[in-house]
Amino acid sequence: SKVPPIILNNGVEMPQLGFGVWQVPDDEAERAVATALEAGYRSIDTAAIYGNEEGTGKAIAASGLPREEVFVTTKLWNSDHGYDSALRAFDASLEKLGLDYVDLYLIHWPLPSRGEYTDTYKAFEKLYADGRARAIGVSNFLPEHLRQLTAQTSVVPAVNQIELHPHLQQREAREFHAERGIATEAWSPLGQGKGLLEVPAVVAIARKHGRTPAQVVLRWHVQLGSIVIPKSVTPSRIKENIEVFDFSLDDEDLAAISALNEDRRLGPDPATFDMS
Ligand code: NAD
Repeated sequence: SKVPPIILNNGVEMPQLGFGVWQVPDDEAERAVATALEAGYRSIDTAAIYGNEEGTGKAIAASGLPREEVFVTTKLWNSDHGYDSALRAFDASLEKLGLDYVDLYLIHWPLPSRGEYTDTYKAFEKLYADGRARAIGVSNFLPEHLRQLTAQTSVVPAVNQIELHPHLQQREAREFHAERGIATEAWSPLGQGKGLLEVPAVVAIARKHGRTPAQVVLRWHVQLGSIVIPKSVTPSRIKENIEVFDFSLDDEDLAAISALNEDRRLGPDPATFDMS
């Protein structure tokens, strides 16, 4: 494969770069995932709330790839917290995906004010023990949530998927994860393609390497050691975004990108986000 693996804390290999499908309608997701698999992606990031688990599953089936060659992540939505609800939500996701296991199952948001994520995660531990999820983890957990979770459960999350891009570099969270064997996965790695790809420093580095700004930002994530899941529905960009393993940023490039941190979120604050 074009994409090297990250070894998760239970020995499972996860491609360092995958394909995200947030905000892609079900039928379009089927096309986009098919294009991604043709381009060499072997990891797909969906979620129950994205409403495209069916299209994602159809594209995987139609690709003809052996099941074990595609790493599939999905996520439990906020309305499904709690032990029994989580087990039911997992069954519904598997059914839509048309699979008999997922590679990674994540709690989408912690909703700390509801106090349910530990019970939810205990259901995840059962799914893991039963071999229906090869790895389990979380998303949008702050260090305080991880501290509480790991004090009350026994399987350390394999992954925490968090908002991470040059304007929100998450140094503290990345260090916290690294100390505990939790892999950091970056969502909105391109800053949702908004101003970030036009920042002069990024454009200059791209020009220097004969690459695009998106490739430079994705390469920065790879060199930080994070897992990254860029999204696009444009075939040329889908292909461009995976071509980041044949060049390197130097120390000067990395320093210039480090200087872009603004601790600025595009998405909600996990401490307060409570939408169902
Ligand atoms: P992203 O940072 O991947 O940006 C995607 C946008 O950038 C595209 O819609 C397009 O406008 C632009 N773009 C993509 N490739 C480009 C290129 N080569 N050149 C120029 N522009 C380009 O944003 P995202 O979709 O928010 O995040 C990626 C994935 O992360 C999602 O699809 C989803 O799977 C995941 N995600 C998870 C959460 C969570 O709460 N766990 C939240 C948001 C996103």
